[in-house]
This record gives sequence, C-alpha cells and structure tokens, in this order.
Amino acid sequence: MSSNRHQGRPVSLGEPYPDLTPSPVAGCAECSELDKKRYEARKLRKFADAVVASQRIRNHGRGHGA
Ligand SMILES: [Zn+2]
Repeated sequence: MSSNRHQGRPVSLGEPYPDLTPSPVAGCAECSELDKKRYEARKLRKFADAVVASQRIRNHGRGHGA
C-alpha cells in the first residue's frame, strides 16, 4: 500500500530537512535576501546560519520577527 502521510506538502528531493527549507515569498525583498543568504550559508557549510535564514523565511507571515 502507499503511504500518503506527506501528501500535499512539497518536498524537494535532495533536501534532507524539508521542514527547514520553506520557500521564500515571491516579491518579498527580505525573503529573497534570506534565500540568498541561506544558499551561501549552505555552500559554506554554515548550517546554523542556513537554519536561521529558513526560520525567518517561514516567519514571513508574521513580519519576519522571531
Ligand atoms: Zn518575506
């Protein structure tokens, strides 16, 4: 049988932690900055910085606070 537990949630292959990789909101300058920062952080293997950037993208709806 098939497991549909993750149905409906976009999961990009190659990302070990899909929950930590929210998509930046289109048209938001801060999100695209954070996305860039996250990308650079990953490249430099600064995963803590990447996670922080992801959290801020996820908080877009709350004004990029916490
Ligand atoms: Zn944003």
